[in-house]
Amino acid sequence: MTGLGSWLRECWAQRQERRALARRAIPDITWRRTLRRFPFLVEGAGRDEERLRRMTSLFLDQKEFSGAHGLKVTDDMAVAIAAQACLPVLHLGLGLYSGFVGIVVHPGAAKVYRERVGEDGVVHAGDEELAGEAHHGGPVMLSWRDVRASGASAPRGYNVVIHEFAHVIDMANGDADGHPPLPPDIDMAEWASTFRGEFERFAARVDGYEPTVMDPYASQGPDEFFAVATEAFFVNREAFAQEHPALDALLARFYRCPTLPVAASMLAEEQPTNGPPPEAPNPSQGRGSSEG
Ligand SMILES: [Zn+2]
Repeated sequence: MTGLGSWLRECWAQRQERRALARRAIPDITWRRTLRRFPFLVEGAGRDEERLRRMTSLFLDQKEFSGAHGLKVTDDMAVAIAAQACLPVLHLGLGLYSGFVGIVVHPGAAKVYRERVGEDGVVHAGDEELAGEAHHGGPVMLSWRDVRASGASAPRGYNVVIHEFAHVIDMANGDADGHPPLPPDIDMAEWASTFRGEFERFAARVDGYEPTVMDPYASQGPDEFFAVATEAFFVNREAFAQEHPALDALLARFYRCPTLPVAASMLAEEQPTNGPPPEAPNPSQGRGSSEG
């Protein structure tokens, strides 16, 4: 493409963005209310709060919300979901979410029929309750009851919106497998080694009934480990960084966020004893993982 051609394309894209921002401008009162209800947005965005607000408007312009079981999705609800979904991609861009359009909001957890093969090889069938679900090509399903409570549940590292959108990020290069599309400065082997070691140590701790900062659900498989770690990274960062300094540092590079001083100092302390991860059983075997 010629220089003139790319310049015209850039001008056209900027014009489209200005129009979208005008169409989906978020009133001050709505934005302030959203930040008050979900304080982790303020902490996560830091100085880039205005950028988060603009991105939230663009997200609202690109996605379609619908309510299930008669639920009416209000502007406040859509902004709450959009702002939380934008937090992980604040420095990565909305392109990671371009593979789907629909967001379906249920009043509470959705019941879905599932068949799973257990560790004993027997098929277990029945209804499961899901607070959220993400599929290739969409839609993303969310329970409003869980979204609404995400300000209060942040100290436990629980956030259904960030969890499901972490699955979307993970699936941007194929299956949900804990290997999202990596930036050029993170080597695939480095990601695999840190991530796998952290996952296996975590799963061994869960199997040993040890208390963990992250939800034990993360031991279900690498896909859930990535999604749960992303939740904790964005809504309960300090506690997460203290327990997983190496993973925190890796996610900070991946999500283009500052490294916390606490994680940096703990990593430095860890260096002398930083050997290979201990052998641990792979708990994901035979425990099917879904994007739930
Ligand atoms: Zn999940």
